[in-house]
Amino acid sequence: MIITCKCGEPLTNKIGYKASPRFDKEDSNMLAGSFSYIKCSRGIVWDQDKYIKQKKLIVVAKEDILQEQVPKFETGMGCCDLDWEWVCSCGEYLGHFNFDCWQEKCATLIPDKIVLCYKNK
Ligand SMILES: [Zn+2]
Ligand SMILES: [Zn+2]
Repeated sequence: MIITCKCGEPLTNKIGYKASPRFDKEDSNMLAGSFSYIKCSRGIVWDQDKYIKQKKLIVVAKEDILQEQVPKFETGMGCCDLDWEWVCSCGEYLGHFNFDCWQEKCATLIPDKIVLCYKNK
């Protein structure tokens, strides 16, 4: 299974087709080779106001994200690594990179914006 944008752009390497057990923000980093869901509650502030209307988000590990999707880090995009919006080349806002030293080395994706692509890959 890979994750793509609705425009067809691939976003991840091949990852497991079943969601791994609940990703706990309090746990260590997101495991590579899988994806998971997190519930959005008031207690979780993943990204300003953009996630508030989402019931859940998909989480993928940093290692599973295609390199070409990841913007080059520049000052202001986080303190030492990306704490930054994930925007597809088609211009769609997909989620957020949480790569900074205090974050979980994962990206959070908005389920409505992406496709879990089970065929072929
Ligand atoms: Zn940092
Ligand atoms: Zn796209």
